[in-house]
Amino acid sequence: MAREITLACRECGREYDPEFRYVCAECFGPLDVAYAGAEPSRARIGAGPKTYWRYGELLPIVDRRHIVDIGAGMTPLTHARRLGEALGLSRLYVKNDSVNPTFSFKDRPAGVAVSRSRELGLPAVGCASTGNLASATAAHAAAAGLPCRVWAPAGIEAPKVVQALSYGAELVSVDGTYDDANRMAARAGDREGHGIVNINMRSYYVEGSKTLAFEAAEQLGWEVPDRLVVPVGSGAMLNAICKGFGEMRDHGLVGDISRMRVDAAQPTGCAPVVSAFRDGGRVVPVERPETVAKSLAIGDPGDGRYVLRRLEESSGTAEEAGDAEILDAILLLARTEGIFTEPAGGVPVAVLKKMAEAGLVDRDETIVCYVTGNGLKATGPLEPLLRVPAPVPAMEAMVA
Ligand SMILES: *Cc1c(COP(=O)(O)O)cnc(C)c1O
Ligand SMILES: [Zn+2]
Repeated sequence: MAREITLACRECGREYDPEFRYVCAECFGPLDVAYAGAEPSRARIGAGPKTYWRYGELLPIVDRRHIVDIGAGMTPLTHARRLGEALGLSRLYVKNDSVNPTFSFKDRPAGVAVSRSRELGLPAVGCASTGNLASATAAHAAAAGLPCRVWAPAGIEAPKVVQALSYGAELVSVDGTYDDANRMAARAGDREGHGIVNINMRSYYVEGSKTLAFEAAEQLGWEVPDRLVVPVGSGAMLNAICKGFGEMRDHGLVGDISRMRVDAAQPTGCAPVVSAFRDGGRVVPVERPETVAKSLAIGDPGDGRYVLRRLEESSGTAEEAGDAEILDAILLLARTEGIFTEPAGGVPVAVLKKMAEAGLVDRDETIVCYVTGNGLKATGPLEPLLRVPAPVPAMEAMVA
């Protein structure tokens, strides 16, 4: 049976053809991709390419010729023995997505959304970005030969700006927050019919992030971890990882997932999901995010309520870490495992450390901690913590 892709409303269930559409016409709920007749198997996945496109059976591209593959995915899942020792955990794994082609996990959703934009024949692509998505979208657009325009708040780290511009993207630097940039990108996308990967292509975009679930399971020998620790900005990634585990279970790729806990990690200066989790109420937007983890500075998280639902379903929790804890966690990870991450990747490490110290995690749990971006994208905040040496005079050349 041929595989059929549809879009289904997350709220009311109404189904649509897989068009250039992302909200339900009935209830404005978000649309998720569903795959009828998909037949993924461990063997076929294992024989696939060494990129996340090995999971193509559960990704929303109809004709493989539209795939834009710049080599993202199949990043290391490292058994973090030394970090684990420091935290009192014996089976801690780090999913090291800092080593993707554009140096963050955003290559996964951006690659799928740009591929699908090409398949739908859209004339250009773009995104609203806290920094990393700009580069991921721009790089895939470059490889596809599509024009790309990105909107980002003016305060993002300089390396991220240089990187995105290097791929040839047009950058609109918005004097405001991410939420302001997002509104402008949405309006431009509607007006011009461009594929804004995280807005009007969001249904396809989030599918790419599912591969963070597929890879972790495959790399564990198709074992289901006991716990995932996931950084949360918009919440799209956490939600997609959960969707990915659900699909693996439905297709018999893994067994029972009902005992897997999913924990959300946010920076204290922008932690609307953590606050809502604690209060047991709705997500109240943070108007002025103030955090060293700029990748997570999304005051009004689009998928916040769905993250809360996932935490509840999995008996997971939500926890925050302050700037100093985040920077300490970056150095702890670097010094124990040789993995250098940006603040957004320090957040889940810092949160896991807190939870372990509070006795909330069992020593022998299998834990996957998602480290999502590269340290070279944000070196500034670390400099005051390190002794960057002044130059010493060079040794004189030896005379024979
Ligand atoms: C975007 C981003 C996140 C958060 O992803 P969401 O889907 O917005 O929750 C986490 N880490 C890094 C490095 C990011 O760039
Ligand atoms: Zn609906």
